[in-house]
Amino acid sequence: MKRIFASLFAFSLLCSCSGKSTSENVVLAKESQPKNLQVAVNPELEKLSRVLSSMSEKCKNAIPNGNPQEFLSDLHKVLEWDEQNQSEDISLYYLIDKKHKVGEDYVPLDLVPVKNNEFWNVSRNDLSLRREAYDALEKLSQAALNDGIKLLVSSTYRSYSYQERLFDRYVKQDGLELAERYSARPGTSQHQLGVAVDFGSITDDWGETKMGKWVYDHAADYGWSLSFPQGYEDVTGYMWECWHFRYIGVEACRFQKKWFSNVQQFMLEFVDAWESID
Ligand SMILES: [Zn+2]
Repeated sequence: MKRIFASLFAFSLLCSCSGKSTSENVVLAKESQPKNLQVAVNPELEKLSRVLSSMSEKCKNAIPNGNPQEFLSDLHKVLEWDEQNQSEDISLYYLIDKKHKVGEDYVPLDLVPVKNNEFWNVSRNDLSLRREAYDALEKLSQAALNDGIKLLVSSTYRSYSYQERLFDRYVKQDGLELAERYSARPGTSQHQLGVAVDFGSITDDWGETKMGKWVYDHAADYGWSLSFPQGYEDVTGYMWECWHFRYIGVEACRFQKKWFSNVQQFMLEFVDAWESID
């Protein structure tokens, strides 16, 4: 409860002392405070405090100290970008993990086939991505080409039933406990959203290749975020996957890096909580 909470408290005191009271400010009289000490709090700051309080300890600890107003300004850029750029489909920040799912019937509205072309190579011929992710993959791949690297796209959208077959196969191969650490149960995979790409050989070694290093260094500049970073299995539920990136947009990648220790899971959990709480 330190870090941004300390800043929040300092800011709320500042509001009450400065005498500034705009229509956006409300006066909250908390029962724990003396009756003559009423603290003026911006409703957004009060909401931020509540949302942060609802986050896991790990997420709270990942958030650096900073100016809450700056945090809120950055948050609104992220939310506005999603509103302006996304189609009629679900939000590009949709939280999906071991606890948050999509239905068996969910299929992205606008799936675009991903075939071999001048930008990239594919490792199979039945790949597809949601439109926004496809367009962003073009931009990423163009930048890679400019640096002399042609990306290899190995896995993209997967239907619920495809993920089901995949997960069952891994369970038979490695047992349930191990399979859970690297493969998603049907309905819980970012691949079903049509916004995730597995690059290259889909092995740890790929991270050390020229292509792997380039993608790691530049993906966020084009809105692609590493979903399962090294050392966060207890947070994401999955072992490190150097090859798996999710498209969330440039603003969200910046927000994730600046305020959430560059951990996508923390950032998306926060946005989900912000959108869920009044
Ligand atoms: Zn993947």
